[in-house]
Amino acid sequence: MLKDGHGRVVDYLRISVTQRCNFRCLYCMPEKPFSWVPRENLLSYEDMFKFVKVAIDKGVTKIRITGGEPLLRERLHIFIKMISDYKPDIDLCLTTNGFLLKQTAKLLKDAGLRRINVSLDSLDKQTTIKISQKDVYDDVIAGIEKARDVGLGVKINCVPLEGINDHEILDILQYCQELKFPVRFIEYMENSLASADIVGLKAKDILNTISSKYSFKKLPRQNTSVAAYYELENGYQFGIIEPYEDDFCESCNRIRLTAEGFLIPCLYFEDALSIKEAVQNDDIDGACAMLEKVLLNKPEKNKWSKNTNENEISSRAFYETGG
Ligand code: SAM
Ligand code: SF4
Repeated sequence: MLKDGHGRVVDYLRISVTQRCNFRCLYCMPEKPFSWVPRENLLSYEDMFKFVKVAIDKGVTKIRITGGEPLLRERLHIFIKMISDYKPDIDLCLTTNGFLLKQTAKLLKDAGLRRINVSLDSLDKQTTIKISQKDVYDDVIAGIEKARDVGLGVKINCVPLEGINDHEILDILQYCQELKFPVRFIEYMENSLASADIVGLKAKDILNTISSKYSFKKLPRQNTSVAAYYELENGYQFGIIEPYEDDFCESCNRIRLTAEGFLIPCLYFEDALSIKEAVQNDDIDGACAMLEKVLLNKPEKNKWSKNTNENEISSRAFYETGG
């Protein structure tokens, strides 16, 4: 069993397989184009898998593949199959913008993927273009439908932004209810790479909007969930992730591996250690030692709390860490 320096059990590994993305979401990517990490600097699937085996052997039971846009990395299904063949009962899931799902969903499912989270910020074509800065709506919807049809579990993530998609909260809730997809509304987490003029809705505003149409009750917190869950009178459940108010760090069970081989103990802070050299040299003891060091130094709490000084905005890129 893996434990961090604060006694928390760590059993969830998030792997960002690429920082590249075909979208430019206002809340995630810088406006101006920038240079990506060269492909030759990325960890190969084989080297990532060496670390994955260490993590699984030491107690990781859940792995999420993310990015950037993970479906942009070639042969992703091969990597998924490596993991699923090694530990068939692992909880293996993926977070995607959905654009390439139509052509990949079946391959991914056959390789052992069980569930996907798809980012869907709007049900309107023009609003989608405004947020992702690309004409992607039809492909995303087709991708979601295909994923459902091949038997992948689908969850939706939505980041409500003031004056942009905040009027669609009820529509998204309705769409997800009809298709029986759980939805999680995520508070926009400020970071210096996002578009400067966006303002995210806070949980209380999201709940206010929902209460204009529905009655709901708050559910008891599920152990390590970062979302608070609510249930409508008809039994449908939705979640809200509120890093500014909620102390979900108390039960944080995650570590992150980036495409370049950095192990990151916390989404907020810049700290990271590279496992690249160790895995490339087949130094499994070295990789274990790095993992233990990162866990020992895992921060107790993020700093998105309401007392955060404005000058302390995180510069951690979501497209590198995978959110
Ligand atoms: N490209 C994939 C996607 O969009 O689902 C996976 C990577 S993306 C970084 C993972 C999640 O992080 C998405 O659900 C996205 O909405 C969320 N995200 C990105 N930047 C965020 C921010 N500044 N605040 C809150 N959520 C953010
Ligand atoms: Fe790309 Fe996902 Fe970031 Fe949007 S949120 S820019 S889809 S990595």
